[in-house]
Amino acid sequence: MMGDRLERLIGAGNLATLAQKRVGVIGLGSGGSFAAVSLAMSGVKHFILIDDDVLEAGNVLRHAADLTDVGRPKVEAVADLIHRRSPDAEVRTIAGRIEDHADALDGLDLLVVAVDGELAKYTINQVCLERNLAAIYAGVYARGEGGDVVMIQPYKGPCYACWAAELRGEILVTRDEDQELDYGMIGEDGTLEAEPGLWLHVVRVASVQADIGLNYLLTGTDAHRELPGNTVILANTALEIIEGEITPPYSAVWATITRDPNCLVCGTAQTSAVSLDALLAESGIEMQDGDRE
Ligand SMILES: [Zn+2]
Repeated sequence: MMGDRLERLIGAGNLATLAQKRVGVIGLGSGGSFAAVSLAMSGVKHFILIDDDVLEAGNVLRHAADLTDVGRPKVEAVADLIHRRSPDAEVRTIAGRIEDHADALDGLDLLVVAVDGELAKYTINQVCLERNLAAIYAGVYARGEGGDVVMIQPYKGPCYACWAAELRGEILVTRDEDQELDYGMIGEDGTLEAEPGLWLHVVRVASVQADIGLNYLLTGTDAHRELPGNTVILANTALEIIEGEITPPYSAVWATITRDPNCLVCGTAQTSAVSLDALLAESGIEMQDGDRE
């Protein structure tokens, strides 16, 4: 049986645990397609895939799907990839925007957030807080030179807004003054300062995202590992992640970002839903057309 090796690796009981879990993946581009298929290959059996995009020829050098899927919704292409590895997996596909399908996240155990737009992540953050839904976010830096992954557990730590205010603003600094690149900073278009990275570099980040997600799903089992923080920052090339310190290629730095009690979204002073405008004013992000996943 196909599952035998996986069972020996993860353990029959733990595999049964994973098979019960329900995982959502929002954003089925390079990272999301890789993470979704990887989770299926690791024993996850229930998926909801959300993305409103169609696969184009220009995507396939950075996507788990290939030219045979061009013209199809990315969610459909990835659902097929999952079924080719795991025929009995239950995959619900939503070719649409999260704003219109937030209820689809009810009852999930974990959400994998693989959208590019930072604004979309703020919207997803709200939806997750309302449902007390754990989510794992990944961001890839300019040209795939690195990336970060954060596990957000509502009210047990920072929400994405607390986290981004801290990490996007302070920890990541320019590697080289001549290059004028601020890793992890928000660009004018509202996304991370990111040009497309190579598939290799995107999936290194997505692999860590999927693996940390898997570890979260195994909470309470003997396969679960305690991790050194809620955030890992990966260098694909030499990066100055901590000021004055060069992180070598293929290594990583862990960080623990704490919840901001005054956070506009999850802070204790917050009594009603905060407007996106207020958040943006706080974060300094300017709204642009097209920055929605
Ligand atoms: Zn917060």
